[in-house]
Amino acid sequence: MSHVLEPASSGRAKCRGCGRPIEKGELRFGERMPNLYGEGDMTLWFHLACATWRRPEAVTEFLEEGGDVEVDRSALQAATEHHRLQRIAGVERASSGRARCRHCRETIDKDTWRIRLAFYEEGTFNPSGFIHMACAQGYVGTAELMPLLETLGAVPDNADKTEIAALLHRC
Ligand SMILES: [Zn+2]
Ligand SMILES: [Zn+2]
Repeated sequence: MSHVLEPASSGRAKCRGCGRPIEKGELRFGERMPNLYGEGDMTLWFHLACATWRRPEAVTEFLEEGGDVEVDRSALQAATEHHRLQRIAGVERASSGRARCRHCRETIDKDTWRIRLAFYEEGTFNPSGFIHMACAQGYVGTAELMPLLETLGAVPDNADKTEIAALLHRC
């Protein structure tokens, strides 16, 4: 089953990696997989850059099958090496003080910045809890999350990126 890369024929599909629309004419990566809900195959669409971070195995398969495209090799390498990077969905301020960090098991204080996780299962990323910013290194194996977060557009507009980056490295 071959993955595909093509200009989007409409602007209606949303990227599975970041949730934003894929603009008409923009290059989109289609991960092909057996249809989980019926006959034949299904295609999951991503921005190429988002697929590189969140579905590195599929992008690697595409390249190995002769797919001819420039990808961000350092992103592909990091995502392959640190498998849990694929689970990083975004950053946000904790809306309550109830959630426990999936890494250290301590609660995450209300209104502090936290990392949102989503596990990939059967073609979708399902919301799967949170970790402290400072637990990124321990949980993922790297604190270099900014390139991924920027690609996904997952740093809120009201956030200070320098502050976010500093919190990630405060472990
Ligand atoms: Zn995307
Ligand atoms: Zn923690």
